[in-house]
Amino acid sequence: MSDVIVVGGGVIGLSIAWELASHGAIVKVLDQSTVGREASWAGAGMLPPGNLAGERTGEGRLRALSCVLWPEWSEGLLAATGIDNGYRNCGAIEVSFDRNLDDEASAWEATGNKVEILSAARRRHLEPAISSNVKHSYRLPEFCQVRNPRHLRSLEVACLDMGVELLEGEPVCGWKATGQRVTHARTVSTDYAAAKFVIASGAWSRQLANAVGTEISIEPLRGQIVLLRCSPLPFRHVIQDGARYLVPREDGRILIGSTEERAGFVKQNTVEGVQSLLQFAKSVVPTLADAEIERTWSGLRPYSGREEPFIGRLPNQENLFVAAGHFRSGLQMSPGTAVLVRQMLHRQESSIPMAPYDLLHDSSDGDETEAHELLSAPNQVVQSQN
Ligand SMILES: Cc1cc2nc3c(=O)[nH]c(=O)nc-3n(C[C@H](O)[C@H](O)[C@H](O)COP(=O)(O)OP(=O)(O)OC[C@H]3O[C@@H](n4cnc5c(N)ncnc54)[C@H](O)[C@@H]3O)c2cc1C
Repeated sequence: MSDVIVVGGGVIGLSIAWELASHGAIVKVLDQSTVGREASWAGAGMLPPGNLAGERTGEGRLRALSCVLWPEWSEGLLAATGIDNGYRNCGAIEVSFDRNLDDEASAWEATGNKVEILSAARRRHLEPAISSNVKHSYRLPEFCQVRNPRHLRSLEVACLDMGVELLEGEPVCGWKATGQRVTHARTVSTDYAAAKFVIASGAWSRQLANAVGTEISIEPLRGQIVLLRCSPLPFRHVIQDGARYLVPREDGRILIGSTEERAGFVKQNTVEGVQSLLQFAKSVVPTLADAEIERTWSGLRPYSGREEPFIGRLPNQENLFVAAGHFRSGLQMSPGTAVLVRQMLHRQESSIPMAPYDLLHDSSDGDETEAHELLSAPNQVVQSQN
């Protein structure tokens, strides 16, 4: 029998499995399709900075904890698997054609993160390809990125090396329980026994919590990406304008992201989505008009309507836990989430306070209302600040 069954093999599930197996647990991961091919594969791999001493919110502390862990994890995975996940410090420049960015920059500074407000001349010096129509900008020199498909592959190989069983094509459809204790994860063909269970099923997590009578408000929010090929690269920093961004990869590729769409579980690219991304890219870096379009894709972010993901034990369940709802930040927050889950399952003191991630925690942040309003227009491409 396994010590732990993790349901879902995205970046959250695989990170948890690796962390637990590295600390001696016998772990099984059940995935309904192929591990590492959903939102975690589709994401852009941006890793904003964080400062543990200065962050005051649950979101900020988990981001900061993960920032500390990313270099260690990347080195550990490289040593264990020989796979370079592409974790790099590339820096980011936030740009705006109209919004004044002073408050945003001050907020980064107030939490102890390095920020440089850019004059037009300094911006031109750093990244001459950025449009001269940009009015405001600042730089986050500690912003990093990772090649998420490579990171997922390294996690998968590292898990297998540690003896984790990865079972693909095994959709969990419910639970077998005795009183308040889950004994098995049920699939169509098999009941899998374990001492503890973790729901890490991304945008699909709601159904699995519902199966034991718990409502968690996670739903899919689609994001589209257009991949360009452009050599030599016209810029080196990640360039962001609110929820839209350009992520340059060392091998001459540029990701343009992303939309936020309420489209159920339908993964596809749309004319409007792709057009709006291309338009955004040309407006920020005009020379991209000549770049080659290599491919497009979309993914389903687990949207929870609050700033923090759900990380905790399900109410009235002794041994059923959840780690889901990371929305736009699941890659970034994955190492921190895995460490917190390990500490929770082993009843150890947690690295940061756990209350903000509790299922019943009510985020009092005003952004929540804004996000709910954005979601009231079904099937529309919407933009928001992230
Ligand atoms: C376009 C886009 C850009 C993004 N950019 C970034 C970024 O730059 N930085 C960042 O940090 N985050 C980014 N994100 C968000 C990030 O990708 C997600 O928050 C993260 O991938 C969530 O990971 P997950 O493991 O919870 O979900 P997923 O990767 O979706 O994995 C869930 C897994 O669970 C499995 N599963 C579901 N239901 C069941 C079931 N019943 N039984 C068994 N298995 C099941 C699925 O098959 C899947 O493999 C982006 C997302 C998108 C879509």
